[in-house]
Amino acid sequence: MIPVDYHLHTSLCGHASGGIEDYLNQAVSKGIREVGFSDHFPLYFLAPGETIPDYAMAENQLPLYVELVQQSARVSPLRVKLGIEVDYVPGFEKKLAFELAAYPFDYVTGSVHFIDGWGFDNPAEIGEYSKRELRLVYEQYFKLVQQAAMTGLFDVMAHPDLVKKFGFRPECDLTPLYEETARVFKKAGVCLEVNSAGLRYPAREIYPAPTLLAIFYQHAIPITLGSDAHNPEQVGAGLDEALRLVRSAGYKEITLFNRRNRSFVRI
Ligand SMILES: [Zn+2]
Ligand SMILES: [Zn+2]
Repeated sequence: MIPVDYHLHTSLCGHASGGIEDYLNQAVSKGIREVGFSDHFPLYFLAPGETIPDYAMAENQLPLYVELVQQSARVSPLRVKLGIEVDYVPGFEKKLAFELAAYPFDYVTGSVHFIDGWGFDNPAEIGEYSKRELRLVYEQYFKLVQQAAMTGLFDVMAHPDLVKKFGFRPECDLTPLYEETARVFKKAGVCLEVNSAGLRYPAREIYPAPTLLAIFYQHAIPITLGSDAHNPEQVGAGLDEALRLVRSAGYKEITLFNRRNRSFVRI
């Protein structure tokens, strides 16, 4: 039994498909008790007139997104939560805090998808990996994740080692970087998302890697679960495996959110 899937997208972002109803029907058929939509928040860090096509919902679609999720929460047999996935880009924290405060989110998920403007998880920008030193890419990535956690703007940190998505892995020992990230998460009081989407990509591994999850567990960092579904078939996909992974790491509960307050469900 999958207790929760907190990472569902909607077609509003421009690169996901299917209606909210279809995502919820799939969740019901998979026996998932609680779901949360966390679609891509408008790109608050771009200059006026600048855009990244089909990347996130437009600013004027945010009220509609909130309304659609709230409406489905009222009629669905499932518990449906209002989340949002926000790209973290340093320097815009105040603006973001202001924009987030306008909506009654159950949780806000922070993601790092850009290193100094490089969309490192975008297949169109994969060529950049061969021009860079992987150790430095990983360092830069994890520093941004840590910085994001410390802003206090996010309840959950999404797919914590997304940088491995295409299977590029440095040869150096990542333990010190992992340890540092876990200490920062502890200090920041954030929750960690165990995200099964990595199974669908060349990394062929859940985010976070087992060794990283073990370190998060040692630091008592709480966890949530997400499939990162961009179509209804992906709802709950890989979460059985994610549950096996977190149980074997020692975890005994999953974090749930309501109006940014936490509760826990035993697994
Ligand atoms: Zn997406
Ligand atoms: Zn996502």
